[in-house]
Amino acid sequence: MMRLIVLGGGESGIGTAVLGKKKGFEVFLSDKGKIKEKYKDVLKNFEIDWEEEMHTEDKILNADLVMKSPGIPDSVPLVKKLREKGVRVISEIEFASLYTDATIVGITGSNGKTTTTMLTHHILKQGGLNVGMAGNIGDSFAQMVAEEDKDFYVLEISSFQLDGIETFKPHIAVITNITPDHLDRYDYQFEHYIASKFRIAMNQTEADYLIYDADDEVITKWLEEHPVKSRLLPFSLNKKIENGAYIEKGKIIINIDKQQIEMSTDTLTLEGKHNLKNAMAASTTAQLLKIRKATIRESLENFQGAEHRLEKVLKIQNVEYINDSKATNVNATFYALDSMNTPTIWVVGGQDKGNDYLPLMPLVREKVKAIVCLGLDNAKIIETFGSVVDFVVETTSMHDAVKISSEVAERGDTVLLSPACASFDLFKNYEDRGNQFKEAIRNL
Ligand code: ADP
Repeated sequence: MMRLIVLGGGESGIGTAVLGKKKGFEVFLSDKGKIKEKYKDVLKNFEIDWEEEMHTEDKILNADLVMKSPGIPDSVPLVKKLREKGVRVISEIEFASLYTDATIVGITGSNGKTTTTMLTHHILKQGGLNVGMAGNIGDSFAQMVAEEDKDFYVLEISSFQLDGIETFKPHIAVITNITPDHLDRYDYQFEHYIASKFRIAMNQTEADYLIYDADDEVITKWLEEHPVKSRLLPFSLNKKIENGAYIEKGKIIINIDKQQIEMSTDTLTLEGKHNLKNAMAASTTAQLLKIRKATIRESLENFQGAEHRLEKVLKIQNVEYINDSKATNVNATFYALDSMNTPTIWVVGGQDKGNDYLPLMPLVREKVKAIVCLGLDNAKIIETFGSVVDFVVETTSMHDAVKISSEVAERGDTVLLSPACASFDLFKNYEDRGNQFKEAIRNL
């Protein structure tokens, strides 16, 4: 019997263990931290051997195959030891893809993965396909393959998952954009992070497609220097694209092999230029998979958007409150500010990942009338914008931040939570931050 070791007992680990068990592996799951009760129940149900709060090397180094959860860096000693022994260490999407013949749409990028994945899944589902959505979102891919395999999958894929692939090949790959993020896991080399994202195309052939943002110079430059085999279908906000998608006179136009579809942008539910990009990526995918034009159009019109991403919360005394807690880097906040049409009270700050705030300067000058810092260390924000914005105040709780924002706001303004930072200094995670924001608004 082949021995499969699963490192990490989170969503992807549990899914892999279950799939491995079903496929006849002898499975052992090991987590250095604590495993959630609901996951322990699954392990017990499937009679899978496991341990928590330790890694017993004797039970791990004898592996035939190892699945490492994306949260575990390559640099930990145990992983190094396994590699030195010549044991294959792969990621969950690699493992799961070995056991399905489904057509795969793989979506990666620095920002917009979740939105584009949800939107693509929504359109394909409305188009009647037997399609599952997985990856960094909801259930793991492995779990879905184990339980109820589908004909199509739309997968949200992080660079950590891509680092652990060998043969994984999406028929349609999407790279939404690439901006510096997670550099601590890539030796602080932006090039390594870019290379990791492009692994999504490394096993693609001439029969496959790569959809990407043609306005993103990081992507276009990399492609010039590192050509891929797949057919390129770029999208752009600024220029006409012969094969791919672009915007002209308020319309999304998609050309694939001389087939053209057009859709008005007025009726899209999602706002902001970044969401036009996401809509182009999703619609191009749908067009490739032969979804009817009318269905694509309707789906774009009734898509509800994801929580914590430019989410409209409430309007109180004609002040709009918008929750963009998921904006954990400067690029995401750039698009949030860009989509503001009214004077804005900007709630910003948190755990800084080495931010350069300067790209935001023109937007802040134009739109922001007050800055409410919400973080333990706000020095950089104050230093950058203190002389540009008249009202800058520091807070350390969501309650205070919302209260002060509501006092500063006048009729017709918008209060925008778009922190450009991680949440871990004051909150459990970005969901907690967004939920506390909404709660505080409801209590105003
Ligand atoms: P991810 O899953 O890659 O983190 P999300 O869809 O969750 O992406 O969005 C993360 C943040 O980035 C949100 O604040 C959202 O408004 C913003 N965003 C969404 N799409 C894009 C895009 N194409 N470019 C830049 N920012 C984006």
